[in-house]
Amino acid sequence: MAEKRLPILESFYSLQGEGYNVGVAAYFIRLAGCNVRCPWCDTPNSWDIASGELRKIEDIVNEAVETGAKNVVITGGEPLIHNLDELTTLLKSCGLKVWLETSGSAPLSGVFDWICLSPKKWYLPENDEIFKRANELKVVVESEEDFIFAQECKGRAGGQTILSLQPQWSADELIASKIVDFIKQNPEWRLSLQTHKYLNIR
Ligand code: SF4
Repeated sequence: MAEKRLPILESFYSLQGEGYNVGVAAYFIRLAGCNVRCPWCDTPNSWDIASGELRKIEDIVNEAVETGAKNVVITGGEPLIHNLDELTTLLKSCGLKVWLETSGSAPLSGVFDWICLSPKKWYLPENDEIFKRANELKVVVESEEDFIFAQECKGRAGGQTILSLQPQWSADELIASKIVDFIKQNPEWRLSLQTHKYLNIR
C-alpha cells in the first residue's frame, strides 16, 4: 500500500547543482533514510529515517507547487527506500517535472521525467532495471580505480544514457586532471561538477 506520509529532512527551491541538468531551477525534496553510507557522504544527517519529519504527501506537494517551481528533484538520503508512487504521481498531476537522484540500492518506484543514477561500488543495484531506465549515469571518482568501476557501470547502462564523471569533492586535486585525461580518451563520458559547492549555495 502506498505511503501517505514520508519523512522529509528538508525541502527548498534552488538550482540543480550537478549533473546534466546543472543550473536549472528546481525544488528539492530531501527524504530521510539511507542504506548506502558512503564514507565521503555530504549529507550523513540524512541517514537515519527518524531524522526526517513525517509529512503528508499532499502537504509536501502543495509546498512545491506554491514555490512556482517547474521541476522537482527527489533526493536523499536514498529516496528509493520509500515507495515514491504516490508522491511522484501527485507532483506530476500538478504539472511538475519530477527528477530522481538515486544510488539504485533499493527497488525503483515512482514516475519520473529524469533519473540520475549514481551507483556505489559497495552497495550495487541488484539488477539492471535502474541502469536501463536511467537517463544519466553519474559516477563519483575519488581514485583511478573508479574509472574501472565507471566502465563496468557503462556496460550495464542503456545506449542513450548520458555518462558523467564527477570528482569526489574532497579528493586529491590530482584526480581532476586524471578525469580530464580519461574523458579525452573516452569522449562518451562528460564532466559533472558540484557547482553549488563552488558557489556556496545549497
Ligand atoms: S547514497 Fe547519498 S545519502 Fe547515501 S551515504 Fe551515499 S552520498 Fe550519502
